[in-house]
Amino acid sequence: MIPATQTAHFIANRWVAPAGGGTIPVVDPSDGAVFAYVARGNAADIDAAVGAARAAHDGGDGPWGRFSALERGRLMMRMAQAIADNAEELARLECRDTGKPMKQARADAAAFARYFEYYAGACDKLHGDTLPYQRGYTVLTLREAHGVTGHIIPWNYPMQIFGRSVGAALAAGNACVVKPAEDACLSLLRFAELAAAAGLPAGALNIVTGFGHEAGAALSAHPGIDHISFTGSPATGSLVAQAAAVNHRPVTLELGGKSPQLVFADADLDAAVPVLVAAIVQNAGQTCSAGSRVLVEQSIHDEVVQRLAAAFAALRVGPGEADLDCGPIINARQRARVQGFIDQARGDGLEVAAAGTLAASAPSSGFYVVPTLFAHVPAAHRITQEEVFGPVLATASFRDDAEAVRLANGTPYGLVAGVWTRDGARQLRLARKLQAGQVFVNNYGAGGGVELPFGGVKHSGHGREKGFEALLGFTCVKTIALRHD
Ligand code: ADP
Repeated sequence: MIPATQTAHFIANRWVAPAGGGTIPVVDPSDGAVFAYVARGNAADIDAAVGAARAAHDGGDGPWGRFSALERGRLMMRMAQAIADNAEELARLECRDTGKPMKQARADAAAFARYFEYYAGACDKLHGDTLPYQRGYTVLTLREAHGVTGHIIPWNYPMQIFGRSVGAALAAGNACVVKPAEDACLSLLRFAELAAAAGLPAGALNIVTGFGHEAGAALSAHPGIDHISFTGSPATGSLVAQAAAVNHRPVTLELGGKSPQLVFADADLDAAVPVLVAAIVQNAGQTCSAGSRVLVEQSIHDEVVQRLAAAFAALRVGPGEADLDCGPIINARQRARVQGFIDQARGDGLEVAAAGTLAASAPSSGFYVVPTLFAHVPAAHRITQEEVFGPVLATASFRDDAEAVRLANGTPYGLVAGVWTRDGARQLRLARKLQAGQVFVNNYGAGGGVELPFGGVKHSGHGREKGFEALLGFTCVKTIALRHD
C-alpha cells in the first residue's frame, strides 16, 4: 500500500485533503485488484492549486517568479538528479500503476530524468532578440513566462509526458498546475515530494488528482490558467480547447495518431522488421506515436508479413513485473475497446497473420490483449482509420511512391511516420510529402528524442512538445520599442 498521504493533493508543497473528501481506487491492470487510493479532486481543489501557483509566480515577483534563469537551471538539475537517484522506486510505481513491463518503466524513469536535465540546461539559453527597425528606435523582444500553466496528463506515459510538459514549463519560469490521469498518477505524486526536497518553492508545482470531467474540466476552464497543455484523445482535447477558448487561453494539444511506416522493396528488412514490431508492441500499443500501420511495396508485402508474423507469434504477454514483451491494457474499459476492434476485424473476415500468446503467469483477472497482426487491411476499414490504442498492427500494400503517400496520409491523423528505403532522393521527397510532425527515415522514434520537437497535424493536434521548441511554446513574446532620437 502506498502512504496514506497520497490520498491528498500536492498544493504549495503540502499534502492537502480533497475539498470533497472523496477518493478514487487505483487498480493494478496486471491482476485487476485495487491496491491504492488517490484523492478525488474537484473545482475547489483546482482553485486552491491555481491560487498557490499564482502566488508563487506573481507576475515575476513571487518566490518562484523571482528565480533567475541560472537558479532555475540549477534547481532543475537537482530535480533531474533526484529522479535518477530514485529511478527504481519511480519505475516500480509506474509498472504497478500502468501494468507496463519493468524494462519500459525503467526507460520511462530515465527519460523523465533526461527531460529535467535537458530543460535545466536550456533555462539560461532562452532569450529574445533585438530587431532592426526605423532609425531612432531600438526594438527588442522578451520571452516571458505565461505565468501559470495547466497540464493534463494521460495514463500511458505519466512520467515521460509530465517530464516533457512540466519540465519545459518550469524551465521557462511558469508555475504549474497538473491534473494527472485518474488511472495512473502515483509516480508523479512521489516526484512532487522529491521536487520539494530538492528546493522547489511552494506553489511552483501543484498536483491535483481526480477524474477528467471533474478536476480536468475545472482546470481547462479556470480563468487563472494562462496556458493549457493536454495530451489525450481527440474528443477530450476538443473539450479542453473549447473550455480554454472561453477565457481566450492558448492550448497545446497532442492527440494521438494512426502512424504509418512505409517499407520499400530496397529497404534493409533485417533492420526494419524488429523496429516495425517494437513500434506497435511498446507499452501494449498504448502509445500516441505507435506505428499502427505498415504499408509495404507490393513486391515484398508477403515477405514482410511473413517476417512480422514470425515475430508476432513469439510475443509473450503478462504482468508488468514479469517483464515480458507486452503488459496488460490500462483498464477494463480500454481492454474491452481494444478487444472489440480485434473481434470486429476478425468478424469482418480480415486475415489474421499471427497473434502472440498470454503467459501462464498472467492472472485471469488482468486486462490482457494479445498482439494481433492483420494483413491486407482495406484502406477504409476501422483498424486502418481509427486509433486502436492497443497492440494491433494492420498491413497493406502499395504499388508506387504516389500510392504510398496517398495511403499514408489517408487518415484523419498526422503525428509521425516512418520511411524505410535506401534511396536518398525518395527519403527526402517522401519526408516532405507525409503529413506528420515527425518523419523517421530508416528508424522509428529515434530512441525517444527528448531534444526533438514532437506533435501533430490534423486530428493529432497542434503545438509542439519536446526540444527547445516546447520551451518557446511555454513563453509569450513581449516587444519593447524604444524611441531615443
Ligand atoms: P482516456 O479516455 O483514454 O482516459 P482522455 O483523453 O479522456 O483519454 O484522458 C486524458 C486526460 O484527460 C486524463 O487526465 C483525463 O482525466 C483527462 N480528461 C478527461 N476528460 C476531461 C475533460 N472533460 N476535461 C479535461 N480533462 C479531461
